[in-house]
Amino acid sequence: MKPSLPQGGQCLFCRIVKKEIPGKIVYEDEEAIAFEDINPQAPVHLLIVPKSHIAGLADVKPEEIGTLAHLFSLVPKLAGKSGILEEGFRTVVNSGASAGQTVFHLHIHLLGGRAFRWPPG
Ligand code: 5GP
Ligand code: ZN
Repeated sequence: MKPSLPQGGQCLFCRIVKKEIPGKIVYEDEEAIAFEDINPQAPVHLLIVPKSHIAGLADVKPEEIGTLAHLFSLVPKLAGKSGILEEGFRTVVNSGASAGQTVFHLHIHLLGGRAFRWPPG
């Protein structure tokens, strides 16, 4: 068993999805929401989040692959809307504490507006 983590409805991003906590929402549809990161690491830093609670990439069930595909389909759309499609952008999904995941509700970081180094820290 994995350590018990907030389940649907209780976690921070579930609460942003339900608008119980304010977020600077830039996009929303039936399955997903995107909002500005509260502590941006680049001039553009969005979080693309499924509305249903999925703890992380390691927890995606086969029947949730469509949701994952939908989240990634939003990346170029939101990059375009944010003006970073041409110059390039970075997407990050931190998975697990040692990778830097701090919010255990799946999210894609979409970062742009500056140059990025490789390897990442
Ligand atoms: P992780 O570390 O899990 O990959 O990413 C979590 C992200 O959520 C961090 O970049 C952090 O700045 C952001 N974050 C944490 N709390 C809030 C919040 O209340 N509102 C918003 N918009 N972002 C948050
Ligand atoms: Zn959640």
